[in-house]
Amino acid sequence: MCMDYKTELKNFFAERCLFDEPMAKHTTYRTGGNAEVFVLPKTREDWNFVLKLGKTAQVPVRVLGFGSNILVGSRGIKGIVCSTELMNNVLCEGETIRAEAGAPLDKACELSANAGLGGMEKLSGIPGSIGGAVYMNAGAFGQETFDCLDYFDVIDWEGRPATLLKQDLKYAYRHVEGIENFIVLSAAFTLQKADFKTLVQTRNQVLHKRMEKQPLDYPSAGSVFKRPEGDYASRLIDDTGLRGLSVGGAKVSEKHAGFIINFNQATPEDIKALMAQVQQKVQAKHGVKLELEQILWGEFN
Ligand SMILES: Cc1cc2nc3c(=O)[nH]c(=O)nc-3n(C[C@H](O)[C@H](O)[C@H](O)COP(=O)(O)OP(=O)(O)OC[C@H]3O[C@@H](n4cnc5c(N)ncnc54)[C@H](O)[C@@H]3O)c2cc1C
Repeated sequence: MCMDYKTELKNFFAERCLFDEPMAKHTTYRTGGNAEVFVLPKTREDWNFVLKLGKTAQVPVRVLGFGSNILVGSRGIKGIVCSTELMNNVLCEGETIRAEAGAPLDKACELSANAGLGGMEKLSGIPGSIGGAVYMNAGAFGQETFDCLDYFDVIDWEGRPATLLKQDLKYAYRHVEGIENFIVLSAAFTLQKADFKTLVQTRNQVLHKRMEKQPLDYPSAGSVFKRPEGDYASRLIDDTGLRGLSVGGAKVSEKHAGFIINFNQATPEDIKALMAQVQQKVQAKHGVKLELEQILWGEFN
């Protein structure tokens, strides 16, 4: 008799395979429905197994980093969510930082600053994984992940490995062309020797500014919208008088109008409805269509 795909995954991944796993536990919005199946691959063999099975069983497979840019609908996610959480090695070799996809980006920033290597110190405090940072070309304070990225190792959805060089890719603000065709396994960043004290100071300043300007005491997923050409989403939202606007337990942060916070057990639908209201009101006042930076997963009520 043919085993169903869930049993096969459980047999293979054992305690690294969970069913009906609440995504509120794995996303920084701290809300969202369940993932039907949640697995934690560590090796290429693990990935090959899950990708092959997903294909044979015809169920969708998704890759999750730290869930710091994702909103999951209340009705959850069909199929398999693969978390990179257990692939978390990061090390410094000469002027290169090598990190697995599930290593915290901030860990790489800390390591590089402490090693007197400049180029990623302004990315400090971004709460994503290396894989998520590469996927989004995450950035802050004028620095972007792709500035110091050298190459990254991937597999495609068939499990075929490749190494992608930065110079072969087209990338822009929060966008990397074709990245959705790959799963990032690890990345290498080439940095420049710089003064250790200055780097650590810059890192601390950046972390301090984040604490000062961002509503870090509430769950959120950072800036909701991309920066529109020549302006800032937060300025437009503020100017439209939307600070503090709320739907259910979701609110436009009073501290930083570019953030939506989960201030009181917000449902994903509260957050989604608030995103739409902000878009509609900003468009009506300024004629600018704010584009979502955050990613919606699964089914919403
Ligand atoms: C308080 C706060 C502040 C923030 N500040 C910033 C900021 O200053 N700048 C900024 O750019 N962002 C910021 N963010 C947003 C977020 O941290 C970044 O977008 C981050 O890069 C997302 O990484 P992640 O690991 O959480 O990815 P996730 O949210 O888990 O996933 C995001 C996307 O990346 C894909 N992905 C993740 N890992 C992989 C992988 N290994 N291979 C292939 N695809 C993958 C996912 O499928 C998904 O499509 C902030 C968020 C919060 C909560």
